[in-house]
Order: sequence, then structure tokens, then C-alpha cells
Amino acid sequence: MKKRIAVLGSTGSIGTQTLEVVDAQKDIFEIEVLTANNNADLLIKQSLKYKPNSVVIANKEKYNYVSDALSNYPIKIYAGEESIAQIVQFDNIDIVLNALVGYSGLLPTIKAIEAGKNIALANKETLVVAGELINKLIKENKGSILPVDSEHSAIFQCLTGEINNPIEKIYITASGGPFREKDINFLKTATKKQALNHPNWDMGAKITIDSASMMNKGFEVIEAKWLFGLDIKQIDVVVHPQSIVHSIVQFEDGAMKAQMGLPDMKLPIQYALTYPERIKSNFPRFNFLDYPNLTFEKPDFNKFRNLAIAYEALEKGGNVACAINAANEIAVDAFLNDRIKFLDITSIIEKTIEKTYFIKNNSFKDYFETNSEAREIAKSLIK
Ligand code: MG
Repeated sequence: MKKRIAVLGSTGSIGTQTLEVVDAQKDIFEIEVLTANNNADLLIKQSLKYKPNSVVIANKEKYNYVSDALSNYPIKIYAGEESIAQIVQFDNIDIVLNALVGYSGLLPTIKAIEAGKNIALANKETLVVAGELINKLIKENKGSILPVDSEHSAIFQCLTGEINNPIEKIYITASGGPFREKDINFLKTATKKQALNHPNWDMGAKITIDSASMMNKGFEVIEAKWLFGLDIKQIDVVVHPQSIVHSIVQFEDGAMKAQMGLPDMKLPIQYALTYPERIKSNFPRFNFLDYPNLTFEKPDFNKFRNLAIAYEALEKGGNVACAINAANEIAVDAFLNDRIKFLDITSIIEKTIEKTYFIKNNSFKDYFETNSEAREIAKSLIK
């Protein structure tokens, strides 16, 4: 039987690459659900090609447009974010690939876990915002999370067959982004165009800015803590500009396992969809002679304050990371709309943490309220 997939965020970078993976493995996978935020035209095009059972357009104003375009086909059409959270629970879905951006990915993940689904998780913000709650829900339900983030997929792959062997430490690799070799003065005047120019990875706008500010790496530290049940002291970041070693696990005997390959998200996507099996692919292969030097550096926590902020958030616990994520979403959006400067992203995050009401043990409602509160605070700092 084919694996029936719901692709949340099918028109984004991870979503379209997921469909490329599916195209190459048509006898294994079947698309059951596609969801998009705003890009109705691409959603329609994808729907005509994959003939899913259902589609959701989050932007309700575009419902009629999508509905008219697909009226001759037996495809159910829904609108609104709440429909995404409902649709993941449908019986005809085996695996939910969550490639939503930001906080919006949280509720669909929770609903999918509650319905006992396997979730291929590309939306790291789910674990940044509510990792503690997510782990609790996984314990209570049958659902599981398979990481799609390349670093976490690497760690997950290194852990295969190591069930009784505790992790001593992990090293999350970071490309360092477009500003790795720039000084703090350069960052003060860095433009949107410069920040969007990532050296190794081709990704959506939000995560590309997060990579330039290293907020993305900070989020990945938090994500790793919850995915692999680690203490902060067990998580290190190492800058590796070539993005070939995707991350490393060190075991208690000192042995280190790394997963390597060209920077291509299709491999972690496919692994999450086929786990525990590996299936043949035509992805380009790594050639050592193209990369005679793989180099490693210490990350600069002074230049990239966001990385330090993420570690501090783990130290404090509670809803701090949720507040950081909310402030970051607002600040990145403002930066992309030329309303603030690059380093303002970090100062807005820091001020938002100070002003957000601290809650130690959080229910979903607490995270929901923290997210709203922190967004308002961040917005008030931009005006
Ligand atoms: Mg990553």
C-alpha cells in the first residue's frame, strides 16, 4: 500500500521539494492533502497534477478562486487555518509533512499527534515554541515526530541502531550564513538583499533571514533539546561553511558519527517519509575532490547575539522561547518590509523577552497567549 501524505505548506520551498521527492517515487507515495497559505495559483496547479482528496487555502478570501478552478474535479476544498488543524486528523492520511512557517505550524502538529499520525516535521518553530508540551503529548499518544531539518535528520540518522547507547554530546553544524566573515559594523547596515543571499541553501525568505541572523541555529539548538532529550551542555554549535557535514553525535566512548552529503533538502525529506527504510534516489552525489577542505570554526556569540539568546531561553525555560519566536516573526517581517535595520531584529527580541509575562509551566492556552502578547510587544517596539 502507498504511503498517503498530507503536505502542509505545499507551495513553499520545502513543500515543492517534497512534491519533487514524491514525483520520483510515485509507486511508494500518494498525495492526499495539499495546503497553502496564499499562493492559490500554485495550489491549483499542484491539485490538478496530484489530484489530492482535499486541499486547504488558509487565506479565506481566496476560497472561491480555488473552488472555481477545481470545480470539475472530485477534490474537497476548505479554507482557513483552522481547517488545516482539522484535516491532519483525517483517516486517509498516514504521514503529515508539516512545512508551515512559524507559529502557525504548532496547532496542526498537536492535532496530528493527538490523531496518532507520524509527522515529518520541517516546522521547527513547533518545538521552539512548545517543545515541552509536544513531548508530553507524544508520550500520551501514538504519534511520532521525524525530523526534516537537515541537522536534526543527520543526528536522527546517526542514532539509528544506538538505542541503548546514550548521547554524550551533539554538534550542530552551521554554515554561518552570508555574514560569517563580516564584522559587526557591516551588520549594522546590512540590506535585505545581502541577508537573503545564503551561500549554500536555497530556502524560503523567513528562514533565510533567520540563517543570516543565526536565529535559525539558535532555534535548532532548542529543537534538538526537545527532539533528543538533551541537556543544554550536551549541545554545541560548530560553524562549517561548506555545509557537507550535516551534524555529529558523540557517544560515551568518544566515538563520533556524522552524516554527510551535499546540501540538498530532498534527502532529509525523503528519509523522514520512508523511515526506517532508505530508498534509491537520483540526488546528486558528493565528490570528495570537489571539497578538498572541510573546515570548522567557533561561532561568534558576540556578533550573533541571537545564538546566545537561544541558549539563555533554554536556561530560563517556560514560555521564553515562545516569546522569542513571536518577536522574531514580527521583526523579520518588518525587516523584509524595510521597516527596521538588520540588528534591530535582535534588539526587538531582547526587549520583548524582558516585557513578556513569564510562565513556568505552559498549557497550549499559555503558549497561545504568550504568542499574542509577545507579538503585540514586538509590534509596539517597531512603531
Ligand atoms: Mg537546518
